[in-house]
Amino acid sequence: MIEIDRVSKSYGPYRVLKNCTTSVAKGEVVVVCGPSGSGKSTLIKCVNGLEPFDEGSIRVHGIEVGDPATDLPALRTRVGMVFQNFELFAHLSIIDNLTIAQEKVLLRSRDLARRKAMALLDRVGLADQAAKYPAQLSGGQQQRVAIARALAMDPIAMLFDEPTSALDPEMIAEVLDVMVGLAREGMTMICVTHEMGFARNVASRVIFIDGGEIVEDRPTDAFFSDVSNPRTKSFLGKIL
Ligand code: ADP
Ligand code: MG
Repeated sequence: MIEIDRVSKSYGPYRVLKNCTTSVAKGEVVVVCGPSGSGKSTLIKCVNGLEPFDEGSIRVHGIEVGDPATDLPALRTRVGMVFQNFELFAHLSIIDNLTIAQEKVLLRSRDLARRKAMALLDRVGLADQAAKYPAQLSGGQQQRVAIARALAMDPIAMLFDEPTSALDPEMIAEVLDVMVGLAREGMTMICVTHEMGFARNVASRVIFIDGGEIVEDRPTDAFFSDVSNPRTKSFLGKIL
């Protein structure tokens, strides 16, 4: 579903991604971890064309992301992204956050968009919050709305960039529960997260990035049971 082949990227002289290669099969859940500033966000933003890259290729469902002829806005409607800081539309109600792109981009009728939105809000446990505005919700609720909003576009894959790292501890589980549900239903997911319990539960592989390099890309059990790389060991020592 997602093929990343020898991707490199620089900001001026600074190489933020160095020859990164990995792939994610349909229905697979891959967790990406690594120190702050190691290039995790940059890598997943490259996948849906939010950041350009200099070398290599990325293909999503056969679409060449780096090809200038590729319709990136169309690609982004098919690949959902959830950010650390939710990034809901503050001036729109919760229901309108979920319907606006369905109507404007997918050209769904208002009625269909609202039915879809309500079903998704129900699924993330927030049907009773539909008329509120983002600022009236807790961080955990806002993040669940952000996930539901991405799902409203019927994505072929979902990218998560530290979706729980801005949340108070008591709200982390409610967001992870939604993500676990998605994973169990077979959604293709790349999750940048340091929630290693989540990784152990649902990820088939864990990727460790350090200094823009993919240092490890291993099946989850092997990643945790046999840590030989000193960089990985040091990182896990800090977060576990
Ligand atoms: P992570 O998500 O792992 O914390 P990022 O992908 O956000 O790391 O950033 C990787 C590196 O690239 C960091 O050193 C960061 O300072 C740098 N960086 C990110 N965005 C820019 C930018 N727009 N211009 C210059 N440097 C950037
Ligand atoms: Mg980041």
